[in-house]
Amino acid sequence: MLDITGQARWGILGDGQLARMLALSAIPLGVRPIILTGDSSSPAGQTSPLFVRGHIDSRDDLHALLSQVDGAVIESEFVNCDLLESTGLANKVVPSISVIRVLQNKLEQKKLLQHLKIPTSPLFEQGSQETQSWLKSISDNGTRPIVLKFATLGYDGKGVLVLRGSGASDLEAASDFVALATKRKIAVYAEDLVEFDRELAMLAVRRKDGEFKTWPLVISEQKNGICDRVTGPATSLGVPKAHEVAAGIACEKIASHLGIVGVFAVEFFLGVDGTLLVNEIAPRVHNSGHYSQNAGCTSQFENHWRAALDLSLGSTDTMPFFAMQNILGPAEITSKECAHVPKGSEMAHVHWYAKRGISPGRKLGHLNGACHDMSLSGDVLSALQASYGRWQDEQRHFFNPAESPRGAPK
Ligand code: ADP
Repeated sequence: MLDITGQARWGILGDGQLARMLALSAIPLGVRPIILTGDSSSPAGQTSPLFVRGHIDSRDDLHALLSQVDGAVIESEFVNCDLLESTGLANKVVPSISVIRVLQNKLEQKKLLQHLKIPTSPLFEQGSQETQSWLKSISDNGTRPIVLKFATLGYDGKGVLVLRGSGASDLEAASDFVALATKRKIAVYAEDLVEFDRELAMLAVRRKDGEFKTWPLVISEQKNGICDRVTGPATSLGVPKAHEVAAGIACEKIASHLGIVGVFAVEFFLGVDGTLLVNEIAPRVHNSGHYSQNAGCTSQFENHWRAALDLSLGSTDTMPFFAMQNILGPAEITSKECAHVPKGSEMAHVHWYAKRGISPGRKLGHLNGACHDMSLSGDVLSALQASYGRWQDEQRHFFNPAESPRGAPK
């Protein structure tokens, strides 16, 4: 379906920041992105004059989008696969519905990992057991550390309860968590708590014919279940090369077993005992790969399109050091007013999502930095920290001028 300029039309299911960055990187490839959005001023809606006004949970709106495009990519795995299939056009979606079905469910992911013999923390299913006795048995009456998880619809730590084994209070928190999930019709499972040194992640991309590439293993630092900062390559920062090799093998096994097309991310725990365990898999472009926009030969967004369009994949080589700092809404600020665009600096590249409103922990943008010389890595980190700190100060001064010694920023 080429338009009068000879460009193909591709849909994007979603209108948040990942959709925005996908849309922006489609354009140089001669692809006209069409966004499914109810709001043309959403992060992705702003990027393209072409959109279908509608909602991802409406069969008619999905049909309207899919009927005018060659294909469509997703920004979130939590799409309604049954609804997509009911349009009769689900075969246009990348990755395939069968891949999305497995990877949108963390319990299915765990079973896949066990099947592929890829190390992951042991899993406990509730089965037909009554909730209280199940919780008591898997946690030794609340004294053994475990983690409860929503099988679906969890993100940014929402849908995860880490229980450190502190007894009755843990059992109470666990019961509340299961009750909340039951109310929302979400299945819950448990896994062993992993005592880890670091959280790591790897981005990979696969084409239909099997062409496959990985980016370097990276270190992902989380705060309150939300990714705060990513640095890499992990092997330049003290993580043994053998872990990068093992991570790459795990990614390839997953991709070839499922027949994934496009970019996907695998998150890992590096245990205090030195073992590498898979935490979870995301069948899409991912926050842990944003560094690739400024530190790599090919960004994750470009390679996602290349895979979707069945073009040869770009190199996944990177600079010797890179970092990505998420710009999160500061703890004390909630407002419908927009946050201000950070200014960045020579070493800090701004990627702004242009969201309406600000709230604690909300992902509003990110900063990327990279260098050709490892000896400059400290300067890169300082540049990101300075830029982010300045922005945080400005927001505090603007939204809480009474508390600001300097008043609102100009
Ligand atoms: P989400 O999909 O919301 O990001 P994750 O499964 O990645 O959820 O969990 C969020 C965070 O919770 C992880 O980054 C990690 O810090 C912590 N966590 C999750 N599972 C475990 C576990 N089994 N052991 C220890 N910490 C965990």
